Amino acid sequence: MTARLLDGRALATKIEDSLRAEVQTFAGMFRRRPRLIVVLVGDVAASASYVKSKQQAAARVGIDSDVIRVPAESQTADLVELVQAAAAGDHGPADGILVQLPLPAHVDAVAVLDAVPPHLDVDGFHPENAGLLSQGRPRFIPCTAAGVQRMILDAGLETAGRHAVIVGRSDIVGKPLALLLSAKGPGGDATVTLCHSRSADLADHCRRADILVAAVGRPNLVTAAMVKPGAAVIDVGINRIERDGRSRLVGDVDFDAVKEVAGWISPVPGGVGPLTVAMLLANTLLAAELSSR
Ligand code: NAD
Repeated sequence: MTARLLDGRALATKIEDSLRAEVQTFAGMFRRRPRLIVVLVGDVAASASYVKSKQQAAARVGIDSDVIRVPAESQTADLVELVQAAAAGDHGPADGILVQLPLPAHVDAVAVLDAVPPHLDVDGFHPENAGLLSQGRPRFIPCTAAGVQRMILDAGLETAGRHAVIVGRSDIVGKPLALLLSAKGPGGDATVTLCHSRSADLADHCRRADILVAAVGRPNLVTAAMVKPGAAVIDVGINRIERDGRSRLVGDVDFDAVKEVAGWISPVPGGVGPLTVAMLLANTLLAAELSSR
């Protein structure tokens, strides 16, 4: 069997096309464009490149964006103050504020993220937004989790009554995705198993999945022997490895072997990554709409 590809890049382009039209309508009504502020701490190449692709995508749909760059040595209190100042409009109008992760190890990331007011929290990380999601009345859904659910919906994959196994329990991916897939409604109603680093018999859990999502950050964690024939396998992981003397991005799934077993599979790159960015744009437009009501 060769799995069908869950093409995140193509879906992200489709989402951007409809967002572009919605942004135009918004701009026509309110005589302004939505605006996103990104806080980038330090000069880690991967973070800078994610921020660049977010800005490019924002520009493609007509969302303004600005990056506030601060040195890696910045302290927690400085960053909290910076985020509060951005929220107060000191860096121009803001519909959304995003703090690019990871933050340097000496920074209290939770304190900095909590400084983003809930109505500007387009990453969906604030406890208020996490709480709303957990109660089944989401406002801003964390972008990667939203992207995975969108991918599932777009492919027409049934979730109701199916078994979804998510590997990885982070607040930004695994946990919100578990909430989304188990919530009532389209793209939900699944029975969800949330696995993590302390799960016993990971392979057994995975083999029972109709939908298997890997969000760990470990190459080849999911092997063909862990996949039920015909299952949908969605790879959130992003890992940089050296192969054949070249540096490459791979996911958590052994793609070449798993594609022979799975019914559907998402590639890395070109899978969940572009959808994460598309969902960020959707959240930014939503934030602008909510603040204009
Ligand atoms: P994290 O480090 O916060 O969480 C990793 C999770 O994996 C933890 O819950 C841990 O319990 C679990 N884990 C670790 N080792 C395990 C093992 N051996 N077996 C089972 N579970 C194990 O990571 P995160 O922020 O959720 O990101 C996970 C991966 O997804 C990373 O590779 C990250 O780069 C990637 N990511 C991709 C996107 C995207 O847009 N595609 C967005 C966010 C994160």
